[in-house]
Amino acid sequence: MGEGSTPLVKLENLSRMLGVEVYGKLEFLNPTGSFKDRGMTVGVSVAASFGYRIVAAASTGNTAASMAAYARRAGVEPVILIPKGGIASGKLSQIQALGAWILEVEGTFDDSLEAARTAAVKGLAYSLNSINPYRLEGQKTIAFEILEDLDSVDYVVVPVGNAGNISAIWKGFKEASLLGLPSIKPRMVGVQAEGASPLYKAWASRSGAVERVRNPSTIASAIRIGNPVNAAKALRAVEESGGLMASVSDGEILKSLRILAEHEGMLVEPASATSLAGLIRLRSEGVIRDGRRVVLILTGHGLKDPKALEFIAKGAGFRRTSANTTEEALLKLEEIAAHSV
Ligand SMILES: *Cc1c(COP(=O)(O)O)cnc(C)c1O
Repeated sequence: MGEGSTPLVKLENLSRMLGVEVYGKLEFLNPTGSFKDRGMTVGVSVAASFGYRIVAAASTGNTAASMAAYARRAGVEPVILIPKGGIASGKLSQIQALGAWILEVEGTFDDSLEAARTAAVKGLAYSLNSINPYRLEGQKTIAFEILEDLDSVDYVVVPVGNAGNISAIWKGFKEASLLGLPSIKPRMVGVQAEGASPLYKAWASRSGAVERVRNPSTIASAIRIGNPVNAAKALRAVEESGGLMASVSDGEILKSLRILAEHEGMLVEPASATSLAGLIRLRSEGVIRDGRRVVLILTGHGLKDPKALEFIAKGAGFRRTSANTTEEALLKLEEIAAHSV
């Protein structure tokens, strides 16, 4: 459906504000509105070629929307396991409109994932969870595309949930030279939300031991995950690249969401804004120095989470008024014009 080949756009205003050279990889422009499409087109194709009739995944929403779309095209049945009440409304509508089976499971995402993995082991369906290796093969193309567009990169900042994406992108950078692409190895920065940050904690403690977070909580539902399946790979990516993990609060995430809207005209979902929140945090702590070149992976579309958009709209003071007649509308427009000069 035209997945991948997303634009890499210089964020001029943010670059000026933050004193670094910031680029956004606009992954929210993929066909179903998130980077998940890169891996799902590969995963569903493989499932179909193996002769599976049913594909299944536990999801915080975007994996499900993507799997449903590609399953439709491949003519296989999509079954989705979601944590009850735990996914953004735009994603739920998307999944429903694509006619996927939805199985709401009481508990957290991690409970849904456990059920999906057990079903796969019993041979009931082909599992397209983040642990699926073919999905990661698709997702690593993000690295190839960055190398096609830039001749140097210091940092790549990725929001981290189940930790498949950061692992896949690093794999891409490591394999790039096999394709004749330049061998540039940026530092990988993984950003988690404070209330769901087992990998940050493992990294910060230097022990590398990942402790499951029992009740993960954050406004960023796409990364509300307490027991990341790709934990070991992600920690290795961070270490091998000389990178780091960071954690940010929901307040910082929402502020970043608003900054992207206000200064760059881009609406992303909260999990996406986590990468900017991480950059802002690391700049203020002096970890990322002046003038460095940073790529933010902007993972999911703003329209997926209307509630989050309403929240930042309220913060911006709802610039909204009304008129009963065309004459009144003209008067209001004159007032607005007078305010704006
Ligand atoms: C899936 C997802 C993430 C997290 O990616 P992982 O591979 O699970 O770490 C981040 N942002 C959005 C919008 C997502 O859909």
